[in-house]
Amino acid sequence: MFTPLTGRSVVVTGGSKGIGKGIARVFARAGFQVLLAARDEASLATAAADLREETGGRIETVAADVSLVADCRRIAETALERFGGIDVLCANAGVFPEKPLTEMTEQDVDTVFDCNVKGTMFMVQACLPALEASGHGRVVITSSITGPITGYPGWSHYGASKAAQLGFLRTAAIELAPRGITVNAVLPGNIATEGLADMGDDYRRGMEAAIPQRRLGAVEDIGYAALFFATDEAGYVTGQSMVVDGGQILPESPAALEGI
Ligand code: NAP
Repeated sequence: MFTPLTGRSVVVTGGSKGIGKGIARVFARAGFQVLLAARDEASLATAAADLREETGGRIETVAADVSLVADCRRIAETALERFGGIDVLCANAGVFPEKPLTEMTEQDVDTVFDCNVKGTMFMVQACLPALEASGHGRVVITSSITGPITGYPGWSHYGASKAAQLGFLRTAAIELAPRGITVNAVLPGNIATEGLADMGDDYRRGMEAAIPQRRLGAVEDIGYAALFFATDEAGYVTGQSMVVDGGQILPESPAALEGI
């Protein structure tokens, strides 16, 4: 039913692990050529080897830091060199260091905003000419329920950065509409990643108990939502966000989950 996407190209920032690797897997299975961008070369090489083996697809890598504008440009240039164009940008790279507001420093805020907000904005800017040239350019931002919809102690800077991504996307969607580019966001709930595993079993059990579906999401759940925004059939959808959270934001209070 959907137009095949075979042969198109996608840049996935933060593609070396977690949600980004899941997005890359889903796009590779759909026939995309994939450029993974992240800072650590060894993780990139491992992810690329895994994804090539799993999907048989063309998976390329570039080591770069999206909080540096010059690196954002280098990522876009690398995609152009390797693939000849960019059809989709998945601006997914993000950091979430925990810090209570009472202890927060200027550097803590800069670290989170430089990657999550500035990195998203300058990745979009760097990819613009290629996205426009494709005739069907797509930007898919990985935001979060944390910030736009919910809060969690220790992540006020992170929540602010994820809400800022949505503020950015609404104006970007208007500015880029005449160029045939759509800009949308996926808002994950709690997704099972290597990073979440580090937070321990108690944290995981607490999260599962708060989700109506009683399970964390899989990284591919975010990939499928991102892939929908990338289809030709989603071409009239722009400036929107899709929550993918197993119903986590729905209960009015813990009582709403009792007995289900
Ligand atoms: P993760 O497992 O820690 O992976 C983060 C990825 O981003 C890695 O590939 C990392 O590689 C890369 N990265 C971090 N800083 C970067 C930078 N400055 N430049 C380039 N790449 C960078 O995180 P995740 O849980 O998959 O999160 C991915 C996105 O989903 C983030 O935007 C996060 O806010 C969002 N999210 C996650 C969840 C969840 O439950 N996991 C929920 C809601 C939203 P290097 O460290 O090698 O650079």
